[in-house]
Amino acid sequence: MKRKVAVLPGDGIGKEVMEGTMKVLSAVADRFGHTFEFHKGRIGGDAIDQDGMPLPDETLRICKESDAALLGAVGGPKWESLPGHLRPERGLLGIRKELGLFANLRPVTAFDSLLHASPLKPDRIKGVDMLIVRELTGGLYFGTPSERRNGGDEVVDTLHYTRSEIERIVEQGFEAASKRRQKLTSVDKANVLESSRMWREVVEEKAKAYPDVEVEHMLVDAAAMKMVQNPSHFDVIVTENLFGDILSDEASMITGSLGMLPSASLRSDGFGMYEPVHGSAPDIAGKNLANPLAMILSGAMMLKYSFEMHDEAEAIEKAVKEVLDAGYYTSDLANGSTKALGTDAMIKKVIYQL
Ligand code: ATP
Ligand code: MG
Repeated sequence: MKRKVAVLPGDGIGKEVMEGTMKVLSAVADRFGHTFEFHKGRIGGDAIDQDGMPLPDETLRICKESDAALLGAVGGPKWESLPGHLRPERGLLGIRKELGLFANLRPVTAFDSLLHASPLKPDRIKGVDMLIVRELTGGLYFGTPSERRNGGDEVVDTLHYTRSEIERIVEQGFEAASKRRQKLTSVDKANVLESSRMWREVVEEKAKAYPDVEVEHMLVDAAAMKMVQNPSHFDVIVTENLFGDILSDEASMITGSLGMLPSASLRSDGFGMYEPVHGSAPDIAGKNLANPLAMILSGAMMLKYSFEMHDEAEAIEKAVKEVLDAGYYTSDLANGSTKALGTDAMIKKVIYQL
């Protein structure tokens, strides 16, 4: 099969981990007889420097003409003092909005060979395999900006959702749960928020179409506690934008490093943008220290969710697991005990294993 992929490396370690991911995907293409055409675009600080804006039209065009997009990371100290609308992060919020990517999927897996790297006790996280489905285009992030202070000491952030926005994300949650262990935890704050009460109504309605999926409602504060106390409790979590942001950073500690977490941002027609959960990591950028596995695993998610290439995706996941099981780590996971591999060496190990 031939597939067009938009490639947006962005800033900092985004560039380093993207190079390796393209190589890994090309290796998969060779092995399974596919062709992936990569089309590069600029975003974030990289685009500010060259085009004077964080999300140039050209980048959007490349994405719209592709079957899926890969994104590295955006941002860095160089652009921090720019006004809000010119910040690299605007490029990220903008592209999600422009492409209509409303569902953010973040799998959190405890790899057996990485249990040492988590701050949580190994026996508590062993076997954890959950998927957080976070709403991405509504909620507090897109309400009245708090910069608008009416000139006084009052600030307003609005949490806005329409029923159809809730329906489409809840449906993604049910779909994911029905393909996994058939358990869906809907996280809200229905004891205080009206939006959460509508959220619960929608979950109850949608549940009728998925009789095999066991559904539970959990308040976000209770979910935050459960995540540390007994993370194995969760299969699929579906939640609104801000709750999902906070819970997925919390859950990331189960894996041991931000460098291990992939994500997908999807819409209903199969198009998706795939990116690591981590940022541009300016502290280690350009030093060949970045863990490329989050980006590589994001590439595997692209194969699975946008291209329906399940064997191909599993081949990548298996190669990553085998490399880790053989004791090869980048420095974020090395724990002082092993000699850490650099970014390039880690990529070579994965390709060799493939
Ligand atoms: P953002 O605001 O873009 O989300 P952030 O403030 O969350 O960024 P990151 O850039 O993700 O920060 O980095 C947080 C810390 O994790 C840094 O110390 C960074 O070096 C480390 N880190 C992030 N990604 C990786 C990676 N792939 N490999 C190794 N270390 C990483
Ligand atoms: Mg962050």
